[in-house]
Amino acid sequence: MKLDISDVYSLDNKEIVRKVHIDMVEFASRQGVFPIQAGEPFDLMIANEEGKRLRLSGEGDVTVQIPCDRCLQEVAYPFHFIIEKEIPLENTLEESEDADDEASSYIDEERVLDVDRLVFNEILVNWPAKVLCKSDCKGICPKCGTNLNLAACDCEQGELDPRMAQFQDVFNKFKEV
Ligand SMILES: [Zn+2]
Ligand SMILES: [Zn+2]
Repeated sequence: MKLDISDVYSLDNKEIVRKVHIDMVEFASRQGVFPIQAGEPFDLMIANEEGKRLRLSGEGDVTVQIPCDRCLQEVAYPFHFIIEKEIPLENTLEESEDADDEASSYIDEERVLDVDRLVFNEILVNWPAKVLCKSDCKGICPKCGTNLNLAACDCEQGELDPRMAQFQDVFNKFKEV
């Protein structure tokens, strides 16, 4: 969702609270593309603090479908995000160029705030190192591809059948993350 906040920019000490929501249905990053279930709309406060900086604050929830690292079953992974941003206004730009760079990813030159991008950034920084469908997930048999949580197989575990090497590749790809 896009939100025009130009009035907050131009009025010192102006403060607004808006119910905002996420429109994006996928989270696409270097790790891949993952379906999103947006949570409830959440309150976002945008305040102009004495014409010096903008403060954004709010919190909400979003669930992302992420494959289990071992068996690749999709896991509904909940993110609770807390937005707390201070953005220097133009007259104090020199003080913090890095912060302004980040802000420019979700506030455009027309002073329209991109809520999806803001939440995207929060998901990105909170991305889990490891996702398991359950702590004792047995994974997939590297030889026959059976999901060992659902069924046993008769393979001897040990050397890898080259035809199944692609499964191993999938594992390794996710493990690098
Ligand atoms: Zn699993
Ligand atoms: Zn097997």
